[in-house]
Amino acid sequence: MIELDVLTLSFTAMIISALLAGAMFILWRLNPEETCARFWAVGAALLSAGLLLVAFRQSTTPFFGLLVPPVLSTMGVGAFIVGIGVFVGRRIPPWTIGAIGSAVFLLLVVLVYVYPTPHVRVGLITLVYCALSLWAAVLLAFEMPTGAILAQLFPTAAFWVFGIVSLYFGVAALYQPTNIGSLAGGNILPGFYLAAILTLTCLIFGFAAMINSRLYQKLAHIARHDPLTGVYNRRALEEAALREIARCVRHGYPLSVLMMDLDFFKKINDEHGHDAGDAVLKAFAATVAEVLRTDDILGRFGGEEFLALLPYSDRSAARTGAERIRGAVASMEVRHEGQKLDVTVSIGVAELVEPGKDWGTTVSLADTALYKAKEGGRNRVAG
Ligand code: GH3
Ligand code: MG
Ligand code: MG
Repeated sequence: MIELDVLTLSFTAMIISALLAGAMFILWRLNPEETCARFWAVGAALLSAGLLLVAFRQSTTPFFGLLVPPVLSTMGVGAFIVGIGVFVGRRIPPWTIGAIGSAVFLLLVVLVYVYPTPHVRVGLITLVYCALSLWAAVLLAFEMPTGAILAQLFPTAAFWVFGIVSLYFGVAALYQPTNIGSLAGGNILPGFYLAAILTLTCLIFGFAAMINSRLYQKLAHIARHDPLTGVYNRRALEEAALREIARCVRHGYPLSVLMMDLDFFKKINDEHGHDAGDAVLKAFAATVAEVLRTDDILGRFGGEEFLALLPYSDRSAARTGAERIRGAVASMEVRHEGQKLDVTVSIGVAELVEPGKDWGTTVSLADTALYKAKEGGRNRVAG
């Protein structure tokens, strides 16, 4: 039988909790926008303080030895929950932490001073941990932001396991008063602390992985989108184009490209200012995105030139789409500082064709067609 004493285990849990607090503090400083890390740091620090008092339980008063540690530790788990809520986008008010602490405090005042019953005290507090842990597990399991699913795996599993283990030990403590701290008997407290150590260890890298996955998604989004209009930037557009071209060639579908350039855009900037030009670009991108089908891909090619990829469309279908875009843009209502801005677009159409069937050739064909549309008087479709 392995000898696991409560003191050593609680001290180990305290150290791991302190490490978790440090790791979360560093993560929060590195990613100040991720306020969840701040709650996790505070939660781990509270937990660590509570566990430190457990280690000195013998040499202190019942107030600091029996009453304060669970208050601090349950508040710590409460802060974990508030942080998880921040991460998954479900707001849990921070006063919840105080409410948990106050409820546990009142419960313990009764069980330490009014009716001192150690096994009921241990059992009920363990059941409070069970409830909090399952709350965290449910939040993590049912509110998974896309992309963070894998990252949430360990914390979710850890909270489920800890919740179920606490349920078992809580009930066991209530029914086996003599086995609370025994090593060879019920193993209630040693088992509880062992589960806490495993859970805290999973949280160190689990919470870090969650923040890392969020950061990666943010950066990947920034790297692929135009900040002004929100559509794909040129790099993402070219990546998507290569993917779509390979797919269309493989399955024998047509694919067309629309090269769009706003007419006399420089004049809008010169007459109404750069902000007006920006407002036009935004309105244009939104209008085109609305007209396009869900399979189509829109991106900003550069300046006031936009490109749309139309998979499954041959040249004639693409021309029809381009004509709809032209019409929608011409009737678009863009207002800037009370003035109505007239916007039109010229569009060059090209289909992915032999020989070559490549991106570069198709884009230059669309470009040539665009040039023709400009030559022909603008606000028209060519190609
Ligand atoms: P055309 O009908 O021949 O296309 O004439 P144009 O005036 O639209 O063409 P030109 O290429 O001369 O002007 C493009 C202008 O687009 C010049 C540049 O200052 C402006 N521009 C490029 N990017 C941005 C941007 O992000 N915001 C704003 N406001 N203007 C931009
Ligand atoms: Mg232009
Ligand atoms: Mg241009």
